[in-house]
Amino acid sequence: MLRISKEFVTDNCSPKNPPVACCQSGDTVMFETRDCYDDRLQGDGTVIEPEKALENPATGPLYVEGAQPGDVLKVHIDKITINPTGLMRCSTSAGAFNDLVEYRKVRQFDTTGEYIQFTDKLKLKIDTMIGVIGTAPDTDTVMTHTPGSHGGNMDCNKIVEGSTLYLPVNVPGALLSMGDLHALMGDGEVMICGLETGGEVTVTVEVVKGFPMPTPALACRGKFYSIQSANTLDQASRKASRAMLKFLQQVTPMDVHDCAMLLSLVGDLSVCQIVDPQLTVRMGIDQSILDAYEVKLP
Ligand code: CA
Ligand code: CA
Repeated sequence: MLRISKEFVTDNCSPKNPPVACCQSGDTVMFETRDCYDDRLQGDGTVIEPEKALENPATGPLYVEGAQPGDVLKVHIDKITINPTGLMRCSTSAGAFNDLVEYRKVRQFDTTGEYIQFTDKLKLKIDTMIGVIGTAPDTDTVMTHTPGSHGGNMDCNKIVEGSTLYLPVNVPGALLSMGDLHALMGDGEVMICGLETGGEVTVTVEVVKGFPMPTPALACRGKFYSIQSANTLDQASRKASRAMLKFLQQVTPMDVHDCAMLLSLVGDLSVCQIVDPQLTVRMGIDQSILDAYEVKLP
């Protein structure tokens, strides 16, 4: 299996980034990732200087043979293993609590088991997810702290082991990169970090041609989502809802009115994160809706 070391990291998604590895459609590839602190923050709160040599580093990019602009890159998350510890650091400058936070408190947690011990009374179940995963945009360079139509820092806690992410291909080879693993993160990521850790992500990548995916899209635990980012939550909500509406119109015989009614009845609109330079929302539907119309996701 092809393995990409965490020596090969970048702080941006760009069509100009030279690929660090190359694979065929259908191959399985392992990405070793650094944590969002560029592996520089220590459990006692000290940092290995220079602090954050790279902001939110992502490993890659991977060139997938045969991927052409207009295709979709299917990324099945086969396996995620994480480091034995994870870190959090309070932010005094951003997030929902910046004015309440008194100092940049750091906590380290043991992530070797099924749970983290948060306090003597609270054990929290680990549910590891990928914060940053994306392809290259067509012309722009987007920093890895920003999400967008290419994916990137979506911080969607449904991007977990066993899920399948569908990303747009904007440039030949797609240029896939990923990083910013969280051992656990709530919807919103309101204090600006999850339980940040590094690890290894094994994915199987496949080039999909001619299927109208509402990218970035995700199949996870019996649900299908479109994940969209914008300047405000209002705009992101509208974008995610409309992407799903358009998808339903394309793959079912339902008209715009019935698709809109359906989403108003059973659509699952949720906040992924409110702390990145663009805000991210997902619109989800039950897989059973696709099954009823015999829509098979590629
Ligand atoms: Ca993130
Ligand atoms: Ca993070």
